[in-house]
Amino acid sequence: MTFIFQTPGKLIVEWGGAARLGERVAYPFGDLRRLLMVTDKALRDACIADPALASLSAAGFEVLVFDAVVADPPEAVLRACVELGRGFGAQGVIGFGGGSSMDVAKLAALLLCTDQPLDGLYGIDKAKGDRLPLVQVPTTAGTGSEVTNITILTTGGTTKMGVVSRQLYADLVLLDAELTVGLPRIHTAATGIDAMVHAIEAYTSRSRKNPLSDLFAREALRLLSAHLVAACEDGADRTAREAMLLGACYAGQAFSNSPVAAVHALAYPLGGHYHLPHGLTNALMLGPVLRFNMRAAAPLYAELADVVVGASSAETTARAAAFVDHVQDLMNRSGAPRRLRDVGVPEESLPVLAADAMKQTRLLTNNPVEVTEADALRLYQEAF
Ligand SMILES: [Zn+2]
Repeated sequence: MTFIFQTPGKLIVEWGGAARLGERVAYPFGDLRRLLMVTDKALRDACIADPALASLSAAGFEVLVFDAVVADPPEAVLRACVELGRGFGAQGVIGFGGGSSMDVAKLAALLLCTDQPLDGLYGIDKAKGDRLPLVQVPTTAGTGSEVTNITILTTGGTTKMGVVSRQLYADLVLLDAELTVGLPRIHTAATGIDAMVHAIEAYTSRSRKNPLSDLFAREALRLLSAHLVAACEDGADRTAREAMLLGACYAGQAFSNSPVAAVHALAYPLGGHYHLPHGLTNALMLGPVLRFNMRAAAPLYAELADVVVGASSAETTARAAAFVDHVQDLMNRSGAPRRLRDVGVPEESLPVLAADAMKQTRLLTNNPVEVTEADALRLYQEAF
């Protein structure tokens, strides 16, 4: 047995912890004083970051806020963030928000430390040298970006590309589930299902699946499937919110080491063309891909059935089918839209989406079953 497992070095799980952020970041920031916070305008306008900013200020930090992150961030947003940080003389970076803000924060921390051109960073382990100290504070329970070494940017018009590099692991992650309380039901559902997809795809990945990624994936799925509907139905349910944030974090730790596959490969073109939220696009593609992968992944789905449905002596195929049914049922009860036609995707665009999905070779290679362009088209048609 040989495997490698990487994850950020320090994790703080604390309800209300963001209001004590100034104390909590004594490591890694130490005597560094000038911090760049990376977030988005909606969070800023809703004053979600105010307690954290007040705490940082009380602890003697000077914080400049970059709040121009948008969903599916284009390269221009990252460049603007780095420029602002450079002018300010930022000594450390805090990502505060959903996956987009945390993704931009990671790469900003790297680019504020080096002159490497962004173009040369796409792919796996292309970055050289160090980055600024980095803290991540998620405000959604989904992407797991706080614990991954991946940044996804929109390049050109509609394509999404990934930078995967060891430097992108944060020094410190703060999980404060109180930050997720105000998240509307649709976002709670979509981000929660995204996290479930991370756990499932990590568990069935053809690349680098290992006993520790399995451990995180199973426990992630146990937490997420047990609490998704409760978090959707009552956003103020503290137990559900804490379980979802921890589950999403575990799922992130799993897929950062055992990477995601066809659900994400098919989801990215939907985000690129129609600017649908990442979690929603995954929720739309999960059912068809689960059924497609059944021919190879049934034994693994059967193992996951034992986690989410309960142990059973039924044969493998029946347990695998029970797993897929259970996930479908959770998605239905979450209230997330279930079909491409319901979110404005026109049927005539499906061939273009299928051709685009084929470009996600980094992800498709991890899928338990090979996906051809004809398969991709059939999967989009099934989701339509
Ligand atoms: Zn995802």
